[in-house]
Amino acid sequence: MAIRVYNTLTKRKEEFRPLRDNEVRMYVCGPTVYDYTHLGHARTYIAFDVIRRYLEHRGYTVLMVMNFTDIDDKIIKRANETGEDPKELAERFLRYFLEDMKALKVKPADIYPRVTEHIEDIIEFVRKLQERGYAYEGSDGVYFEVQRFKDYGKLSGIKLDELRKGARVEPGEGKRNPEDFALWKKAKPGEPKWSSPWGKGRPGWHIECSTMSTKYLGESFDIHGGGNDLIFPHHENEIAQTEACTGHEWVRYWLHTGFLMVNGEKMSKSLGNFVTIREMLERYDPEVIRLFVLQRHYRSPLDYTEEGMEHAKNNLERLYNTLENIRVAMERAEISFKWGEEEFEAYEAIRSAREKFYEAMDDDFNTAEAMKAVFEVSNAVNRYLTKVERPKESILRKAMEFFRIVSEVFGIFEDYFREQRAGEEEELIRLLIDVRAQLRKERNFALADRIRAELREMGIQLEDTPQGTVWKRVKV
Ligand code: AMP
Ligand code: ZN
Repeated sequence: MAIRVYNTLTKRKEEFRPLRDNEVRMYVCGPTVYDYTHLGHARTYIAFDVIRRYLEHRGYTVLMVMNFTDIDDKIIKRANETGEDPKELAERFLRYFLEDMKALKVKPADIYPRVTEHIEDIIEFVRKLQERGYAYEGSDGVYFEVQRFKDYGKLSGIKLDELRKGARVEPGEGKRNPEDFALWKKAKPGEPKWSSPWGKGRPGWHIECSTMSTKYLGESFDIHGGGNDLIFPHHENEIAQTEACTGHEWVRYWLHTGFLMVNGEKMSKSLGNFVTIREMLERYDPEVIRLFVLQRHYRSPLDYTEEGMEHAKNNLERLYNTLENIRVAMERAEISFKWGEEEFEAYEAIRSAREKFYEAMDDDFNTAEAMKAVFEVSNAVNRYLTKVERPKESILRKAMEFFRIVSEVFGIFEDYFREQRAGEEEELIRLLIDVRAQLRKERNFALADRIRAELREMGIQLEDTPQGTVWKRVKV
């Protein structure tokens, strides 16, 4: 069955067919790093994490790129307020962002390009636009001339004349038309700057994503995403720049997430109504936050409420209880020589819920519907366990297999499964490491080396580091 995605560009659901078989190249706009990451960001990044995880689960190799806007008006402004160097400020919040994402179990992007490390590429891109007649130099920077790009508005539906009505050229701005946007900003005194053919300055915001995405993913790729607020002007401008530069279609599928809302308003830094991930993590397990986000389809707005969080917390607890019930039942389970009515019933419930899970995820990554299927399986197993004295191992395995898929796709229960698999084995390895250390202390190197060699033959390599002995799995 094919995956279908809602494409903001065509405004309908389409069958997902990547440009290359088996590979998906995706770019998600990253944060402007001048403050702590909040729950609104988490909503968007968890949503794209699950999209990526699902594509990987369905067998695609995903190459994912996410930029860091590490130089920008907001960063400069904040640095002036705090008296910090803008570069250091950005660096600090970039690290915090990565820590927060890790805590939330968001898989890292394959490449995280930063604007300040791609200035040359950006200059080259702007130069090309100028060469092709889409860009011009004004007194305070280089601008993209919007009216030259005939397809302008194709993503957001905005019309050039509407745009003109709503904007004007401010005093001191060197652009020709109110709708034109900056590709390169000439430096004002005291601002960070880089040399360019147009004098010292820095890139505009939109150009970084056109430059860095095409640099790493090619002139055409499959998915470009971000929050709804990026559709206009950011993504509209990105399209104009890139397609003007290459002369052909750029991104196939545009995906946008709905906002995380607080009392009817978007959670945002500027409104000051945000909760940081750090604050959230003090109160909730990261998996509760993931579940809270995934209980809604990624395109729908999501209201942040205490009740919503409590609901997610209870749901997660219910699922962990089920996992525990299965684990305990496994100990008294038996291999089946025949199935009774209870088994057929449980099997059918698990099978059909699993089908629903895939149908939901195939349908534009509908995690909200998929979640219902997860609870169907949970309920079915619990019901089965109350009905039978000696559960059949095969039924429990079917349920476990399903939860393992959920774990992979939703990014929850990962530790649980890892521990299940590795728990006992790790204990034994640690014991052998301790024995070996003791043998070395007693200068019994022959036996110590034998332990190391035999573990190596089993695919477990010991490494002595200043912090002690560590081990890793290697191919035998
Ligand atoms: P920013 O750091 O503000 O540039 O935002 C980085 C990403 O987070 C963008 O894709 C935004 O659309 C997204 N984002 C910011 N606030 C929210 C929110 N309240 N709900 C969902 N996504 C958001
Ligand atoms: Zn972007």
